[in-house]
Amino acid sequence: MTPPVSPAARAADDPGLAELASESVILFDMAGRVRYWNPAAEILFGWPPLGIVGRTIAHLSPPVDGGGWRQLLQEGRWQGIVQRRSPSGAYVGAAVRQHVRYHDDGTPRDIVEYGHGVSDGNPLRYADDQVSDARLAATWEIDISGARAAIDAVAGQHEILEPAELDARLRAVVQAARIVEVNDRTARLVGGNRGRALMVGQSVADFWPVGSRATLGELIVDAACCETDDAVHRRALASDGILRDPTLSVWPADSDAAADRLFVAVNGAADDDRSYPYLRASEARYRKLIHFMPVALWQVDASRMGKIYAELRARGVTDFEGYLEEHPELVALAATTVPVTDVNRSAIQLIGGSNAQDLIQPVGYLFAESLDSLRRVMIGRFSGRQNYSEFMKVRRLDGRILDVRFSVTYPEPLLELDTTIFSLEDVTDRLRMESQLRQIQADFSHAARISTLGELTSSIAHEVNQPLAAIMTNAETSLRWLARPDIDFEKVRQLTARIAASARRADDIVGRIRGMAAKQPPELVALNLNEVVQESLLFVRHEVDTRAIRVMASYARGLKLVTGDRIQLQQVVVNLLINAIQAVEAQSETDREIALATGADPDGAIWFSLRDTGPGIAPEHLGRIFEGFFTTKHDGMGIGLAICHSIVAAHGGSIAVENRPDGGAEFRFSLPGETRAARGGQAAERKARPRATIAPSDD
Ligand code: ADP
Repeated sequence: MTPPVSPAARAADDPGLAELASESVILFDMAGRVRYWNPAAEILFGWPPLGIVGRTIAHLSPPVDGGGWRQLLQEGRWQGIVQRRSPSGAYVGAAVRQHVRYHDDGTPRDIVEYGHGVSDGNPLRYADDQVSDARLAATWEIDISGARAAIDAVAGQHEILEPAELDARLRAVVQAARIVEVNDRTARLVGGNRGRALMVGQSVADFWPVGSRATLGELIVDAACCETDDAVHRRALASDGILRDPTLSVWPADSDAAADRLFVAVNGAADDDRSYPYLRASEARYRKLIHFMPVALWQVDASRMGKIYAELRARGVTDFEGYLEEHPELVALAATTVPVTDVNRSAIQLIGGSNAQDLIQPVGYLFAESLDSLRRVMIGRFSGRQNYSEFMKVRRLDGRILDVRFSVTYPEPLLELDTTIFSLEDVTDRLRMESQLRQIQADFSHAARISTLGELTSSIAHEVNQPLAAIMTNAETSLRWLARPDIDFEKVRQLTARIAASARRADDIVGRIRGMAAKQPPELVALNLNEVVQESLLFVRHEVDTRAIRVMASYARGLKLVTGDRIQLQQVVVNLLINAIQAVEAQSETDREIALATGADPDGAIWFSLRDTGPGIAPEHLGRIFEGFFTTKHDGMGIGLAICHSIVAAHGGSIAVENRPDGGAEFRFSLPGETRAARGGQAAERKARPRATIAPSDD
């Protein structure tokens, strides 16, 4: 008959429940091998499950512990005190209850054991009944098969080697050791976002804090060279910002299984006072947040470059940009060796990968279209910036090219775990929309120019007529002179020269009008604003003359240049002039006056102002006159000022209006003064920036 299975024994069938128990729960097979080992057992006996599951009980117990086992097999249960060896070598007393579980045919299946610690026969009490995650070790199973040569290079040489050389060789041992398995705590403490799966197979050195790498190397060498399999090599470590007062233990794995495997366990409380479950929950939340964030994120381990930068600095390199020009191979090195260590979902979508693994490779693929961007990222790091951002192109896995805004955040280095975050924002659509908007704005302002020219038809006709009339008069006079018997060649030469000059003037006028009427993309050049104003005045000269308007202009000398499109800026000034002409028309002839001025602000901005003696603007209209289609004229369209506003804004400037205290309106716009072209990185950045062309303002 099968003995009834107690509820507690049933818990051992469900490791999930036993994980939470505050009693130790251990499952042995009938050969005495540990099959399951819960966290409370780890706390009680010191062995992490990773290093104990698969081993026999004999490994832990003093040789004479046979009595209980026999009785257990005979009676199906046993209860008593056992002494078990902990990794430190000390023995731990525990009160245990063991139950045999049976198969349906009555043969014994396995043994479940429950226990708690005793000291001198009294139960040990923990501060709380919960199994605290913080008391568990961070454990690693490592493979040292590839580290044999490195181990041999140290073994037995401790005394002979120079300390620096010894240190380097011990680190090489850690470098050559590979991770076979780690527990959750290790993954949490040092795995970052990579998690356990991505640690497996990597070098231990990629994750082990640099401060204690040599110590780990020493223990690996001791464990690897030790005669007895069971010895545990133990050392206290300095607190490292991750764990407080940690102790490090290394011992060989079950020798039957694999000769080259070692277990490594680090015990110690996390420096963070918060409880682990809390920390874990908050970390899980954070990870989820990052993972599902709509911004594409790359986590990058640039620690290797950090070391190179430190060396360069130590060698006195300060002009890193210059250094990179001489050593472009350093950029190539970064592209091929700086690894991406994690990416989020948006990053996978943006690059068109099927999973994170596609993107977890050296960063070079992000800069395949613009290696120069990587160079600037490196310069930003070297110069100690917190972050850096620019527009660049990136190639998706399917070959499509995207316009992205690339940003990098360089964090404060924490130990050697120096992670850098890249974020990429796909701006392809935005740029396309911006370019469409630019096109619409250009079409619109072109239409407005044509309409302005329409308003100026009589002026234009008059303008062109003047030189034509002069040509005619001079040509006729010349003919008359030529008809005379005594031809005065000098006179004819003078007249012909005048004809040529007038023809040139007519040509200038036609050219100017054609410029205004032409539909061409804006062209940014360095301009003298005074010249732009003078050219604009030519368009309205006739309007001004026929209305007997006095125009006074005061041009500032030595004005800095502005960057802009000549035709568009002329359009702004002509619009303002036409409005002013219309405004002063209502006044008596003596009161028609327009005053123009240019100047520079202390902050370097270049301004233009236009004052008239018209009626000014009704206060309730002041806030609206730059709106599209706002007009108070019966035949007005209300687009002139809206266009002025959008052109000035696209040039990075601003325009405003106010009423003069003595009557009339004053319009004023200002534009950024030319700065000298920035050197190196910034200049290239400007070139790469699509907004360097004129775009309509957002507002
Ligand atoms: P429109 O001239 O077709 O009305 P604008 O956009 O050029 O369109 O001007 C909008 C409005 O701003 C005008 O209708 C007028 O009310 C006002 N305005 C513009 N310039 C002046 C000015 N110099 N003096 C008084 N009002 C002005």
